[in-house]
Amino acid sequence: MRAIKTILRLILDTLFPPACASCKKEGDFLCAECLESLAKRKISRFSKRGSTPEFENLRGVIYALDYAKNPQIKAAIKQFKYKFTEELAIPFAKLIVEKIGELEMAKGKRLILVPVPLHPKRFLERGFNQAEVIARAVQAEWLQGLCEVEELLVREKETGQQAKLSKEERHRNLAGAFSMNKKIVHESKSENLYFIVDDVCTTGSTLENAAKVLREKGFGKIYGLVIARAFK
Ligand SMILES: [Zn+2]
Repeated sequence: MRAIKTILRLILDTLFPPACASCKKEGDFLCAECLESLAKRKISRFSKRGSTPEFENLRGVIYALDYAKNPQIKAAIKQFKYKFTEELAIPFAKLIVEKIGELEMAKGKRLILVPVPLHPKRFLERGFNQAEVIARAVQAEWLQGLCEVEELLVREKETGQQAKLSKEERHRNLAGAFSMNKKIVHESKSENLYFIVDDVCTTGSTLENAAKVLREKGFGKIYGLVIARAFK
């Protein structure tokens, strides 16, 4: 199966050479220049001390890039999600891993990546869960310690497009959307860091609702982890 896939990819690449999702230059799905031009901001310390926490169940959202400041990544995420260019998961994962590397709290910890699950109906339509593909790529890129992908959550409710909804509407829409995956036995360990992985975070409702389910099962130290965060 893998060999067939490789051959197919080769034929496709010859017929339609990869082009940069952002500047359309041939060669890579996200070219070196576009990657180089990303607006990054280093985080030296991740702490909610001194200010009111943004979320009830999440300790915070770790994002590699600010969505608004990086149109390059916007185009790439769109291509990844809707034209399924799986290769883009690698540059995305590299950006995320770079960010995790800046986190003092992640040093020497076991990182558990929990992809935001897709509803089975959506999964059948799309054939993949973009959050899971990103999580697996991050796992492969993270070489500083233990990192595992655990599909701890399942989606109970089809929530449809969230983009046009207000924060309150999203919250209502997502209530009860997730539950624990009964097929996986996982004991929450206080020394682990849990990252709920998605492509983009806007209001954080999806991540927060997913975190709530884990929190109710006794999990702690839960963060959101995304390629880009959009601030409204
Ligand atoms: Zn480019």
